[in-house]
Amino acid sequence: MSIISYFLERLHFIFKIAIIKMIGGNIMEKITSFTIDHLKLKPGVYVSRKDTVGAETITTFDLRLTSPNDEPVMNTAEIHTIEHLAATFLRNHETFGEKTIYFGPMGCRTGFYLLLSGDYTSSDIVPLLTEMFRFIADFSGEVPGASAKDCGNYLDMNLPMANYLAKKYLHDVLENITHEQLIYPN
Ligand SMILES: [Zn+2]
Repeated sequence: MSIISYFLERLHFIFKIAIIKMIGGNIMEKITSFTIDHLKLKPGVYVSRKDTVGAETITTFDLRLTSPNDEPVMNTAEIHTIEHLAATFLRNHETFGEKTIYFGPMGCRTGFYLLLSGDYTSSDIVPLLTEMFRFIADFSGEVPGASAKDCGNYLDMNLPMANYLAKKYLHDVLENITHEQLIYPN
């Protein structure tokens, strides 16, 4: 790249940022997950988005555990425990182990995101989630990875509340799932 084209590119970038700063974030596209009406959203299993990376489709699932802006959110300790247990379960799963890209909490603390390699519907993964939340609901003993060497905040754990939330999700959502709990509201 010549020096002139380098400077032109830098100039273009600086100009773009200056415009964004001037007129606020409006120039940026609102990402899809912020366009869902959270007032109508109930606990459930939803497809949040699908992305294509090379030849592969990645499905992002919205595992919604609490009703947004309506029920108390989950506390960080139980979210952290669910994260450790779910990640351990998924990575060791016979079928989905090698398809698991990511499992982690939502910043709003009402649910989790699960990213799987492959093109799926929400009902496709209900058996997997039932198995996973049964594992979390029944788990006792030492939480995997809950040590200073393995985790950044290993004392921030609450297994009894993780058991409770998993049991509630099984009962309220997974075991008798309805159409409304599988498709985002309009
Ligand atoms: Zn951790």
